[in-house]
Parts: sequence; structure tokens; C-alpha cells
Amino acid sequence: MDIIKQDVVIIGAGAAGLMCAATAGYRGRSVLVLDHAPKAAAKIRISGGGKCNFTNQTVTSEDYLCHNPHFVKSALARYQPEDFIELVERHGVDYEVRDAGKYFCANRAGDLIHLLLTECDWAGVQLQLKENIVQVVDLKAQSPSSNEAYQVDTQTQQIQCQSLVIATGGLSFSKLKASGFGYDIAKQFGMPVLPKRPGLVPLVMADKLLVFCQKLSGLSLEVSITVQMDTGTVSVNEAMLFTHFGFSGPAVLKISNYWQAGSALEINLLPQLNLLAELQNLKARNGNLKTWLNQFWPKKFTQAWAEFHTLPEKLAETANEQLAILAEQISRWQIYPAKTAGYDKAEVTLGGVDTSAISSKTMESLKQPNLYFIGEVLDVTGQLGGYNFHWAWASAVAAGQVI
Ligand SMILES: Cc1cc2nc3c(=O)[nH]c(=O)nc-3n(C[C@H](O)[C@H](O)[C@H](O)COP(=O)(O)OP(=O)(O)OC[C@H]3O[C@@H](n4cnc5c(N)ncnc54)[C@H](O)[C@@H]3O)c2cc1C
Repeated sequence: MDIIKQDVVIIGAGAAGLMCAATAGYRGRSVLVLDHAPKAAAKIRISGGGKCNFTNQTVTSEDYLCHNPHFVKSALARYQPEDFIELVERHGVDYEVRDAGKYFCANRAGDLIHLLLTECDWAGVQLQLKENIVQVVDLKAQSPSSNEAYQVDTQTQQIQCQSLVIATGGLSFSKLKASGFGYDIAKQFGMPVLPKRPGLVPLVMADKLLVFCQKLSGLSLEVSITVQMDTGTVSVNEAMLFTHFGFSGPAVLKISNYWQAGSALEINLLPQLNLLAELQNLKARNGNLKTWLNQFWPKKFTQAWAEFHTLPEKLAETANEQLAILAEQISRWQIYPAKTAGYDKAEVTLGGVDTSAISSKTMESLKQPNLYFIGEVLDVTGQLGGYNFHWAWASAVAAGQVI
């Protein structure tokens, strides 16, 4: 088998890999991107409900979960939302800004894949799909005077390169060829990998609560959800969706990043009200509880809730202690999810390659020269709202400027 030589090999033709390839290609580097999937950037195509929420109006380190909260600052400071929006405009891709500054494609997420592939083409990048990587060899460990640092063996070729970039993403959506390859490479080179779990993921309920959710499947409510963590309390105010297996919707996806298996969620089903005061007022007016609740909830939900929790028929005859219990049930509804819906339904992977082993300026391994990790494979997880793609762009550019 002939040995092919490239300045840069990037494994993973997703958001981060393609962005990094174009950045390095424009600098005159010869770049080869390898991916085992039949199509590039499959996750972009299905993201944001098919419209890809590709960045956010404001992106700061506070929008990310990472064991080292400072790690993301340098890359984010050097590649900002305006930079990606400018690229999108230059390619004539129509976009729209939705609630609270989320940028989406106006037509289809595929427009962004086309943008990235065009950029790679203009930058002279080679892209090879359906390439199964067999092994990565450390050439300098074998011969310190070697010009190339790594050899990547696929089933069909051997490629030597000066810089190797791992952009293989996380574990979610294995049907789109997600794999743990990046974590295995980190371990091969003695780098720490932090425990991983599904993030931005629906939660699964069991028993009576599951039946309750199934009855309401498709219904959405504006709620506030709180979890207690060792480090404090986290609350999210957003829409929660009932599904045939439990809870989903933005509030639940966001809180799932903090929920620990076995712990409770506390849900306020009427977060806009001082509920006890309102119920006392209603009692004094001899009002009808269900009719009153129907102002805030869909009738179907009020009915299901009344069956689930046995609402008092006549508020006027309800003792004040009972009223307080009723207010607690609605404003501090404690539920214990059975589990998350797992990587098959998760948007991201929490944890991953420990950033303590990575340069925050270049994404290069501090231990293993010329080996870079970018995108979701790192222990960097964005909140819902375009932050994960923004991290893919920013970390890719940080590496692409130096490889
Ligand atoms: C349903 C869904 C919706 C989402 N919506 C949004 C959204 O709207 N906004 C947002 O910011 N984020 C969203 N995300 C998250 C976002 O898609 C990821 O964070 C982002 O794609 C990460 O980019 P990446 O390049 O690091 O990894 P990926 O995009 O996952 O790319 C990794 C690439 O590596 C390849 N690869 C993996 N293993 C190997 C291997 N062994 N050999 C060769 N190649 C390999 C894969 O085939 C893939 O092409 C969503 C995710 C999902 C699943």
C-alpha cells in the first residue's frame, strides 16, 4: 500500500471537522478529512428541527458546561456569533432569528452543509467518506526525527500527516454514525476522559406518572423546573412537553443537563402566580377551581390533573391547610424520572476529553504534540440555543489557524 502524505488529517466530517478543514486549507495547508459515514455532517441536517440553530446572538462561557469553566473563553473571544453570521450572509443562506436571539436557517439545515462543503472546496480540502479508520500510529514515538507526526491507517490506505485533528463528536444519535472513537484516541495517548452521559435529553417516567404523560402526549405547558445539586439550585422557565414516554420540550432538555439519576425534579405548573394567595382569594369569592384553572391550562390538562390528584369539588368548603397542600402540589410538583431517554434521543454528550489536557488557545493536546481535539468530543456542552454549533465553529477555527 502506498503511503500518502498530507499536512493535516482531520477525522470527522461534522460541523467542527469541516470548519477546521476550510480554515487550515485557506492557509495553504494540504488537508484531508476522513469520515466513516456515507454523508458529511449528518447531524447538521436533522438539527434544530431540520433548520439548524447555528448560533446565538450572545455567546459567553456561561452558556457552557465544562469542568474548567474558563476553558472556552479564548476560542469564543476569537470567533464570535457575528463571524459565523457574516459567513452565512456571504453564502447567501437565508436565516431567521427566533425567540431570545437563536439563529436558524430560514429554509433547510442542508444549506449550511452546502456552505461548509463549498468552503472546503474553495480551500482545496479533500474529503473522503465511508473510510473506516483502523489505527492511528504515533510516528515520532517510533522515530523522533520523522517529518510526519502521525500515520492514520484506514482499510484502504495509509496517510501520514504533520497534524492530526480529532473531530468525531459525541455519542448521541448512533444511527448517524456517532462513535466513541475520539475518546479511544485520547485514551490511547494517555489523556484523561471524563465520565460521559446523555445531555439535552428527554426524561422517561414510569408507572402512574407514565400513564398520565401518555394521556397528555403532545400537550405543552409553560413551567418552571428546579433541580437541587451539590453546588446549588438550578431552575429553568420554559415550555414542557408531555410525550408517550414522559417529558420533553425545552425546559426538560435544559434541566436534563443537571438532573442526576435517582434525584427529584420540582415543577411549578403555574410559575407566574402566587398560587396560595390566588387560591385563598378564589375560596373567598366561592369560585370554581376547575374553571379558574382552565384560564391557565388547556382543559384536557386540568381534567387529567384533577383525576391524578383529586381536586376538591368545592373550594369554599376546603380547609386552609388543604388549600396549602393543593398549592404545593401544583407549584412544587415533585417527580422522580425513571431515567433519561438515552443517547438515541440526546442532542449532546456531557463529559468527554478532559480540557485540562488541552490548550484552550489551539485545542492541541498538552501531552501529545500535533494532536488536536475539537467540537463535542471535548468536555464542553452548550445549553440549548445554538451554543453547541457555536462551540464547534469556535474550537475548529482555533485549531484551524495553527495546524
Ligand atoms: C437531534 C439533534 C439536534 C441538534 N440540534 C442542535 C441545534 O439546533 N443547535 C446546536 O447548537 N446543536 C444542536 N445539536 C448538537 C450538535 O449537532 C452537535 O453538538 C454538533 O454536531 C457537534 O459537532 P462535531 O463536529 O463536534 O460532531 P458531529 O457533528 O457529531 O460530527 C462528528 C463526525 O465524526 C464522524 N465520526 C464519528 N466516529 C467516527 C469514526 N470512528 N471514524 C470516522 N468518522 C467518525 C461522524 O460520522 C460525524 O460526521 C443537535 C444534536 C442532535 C442529535
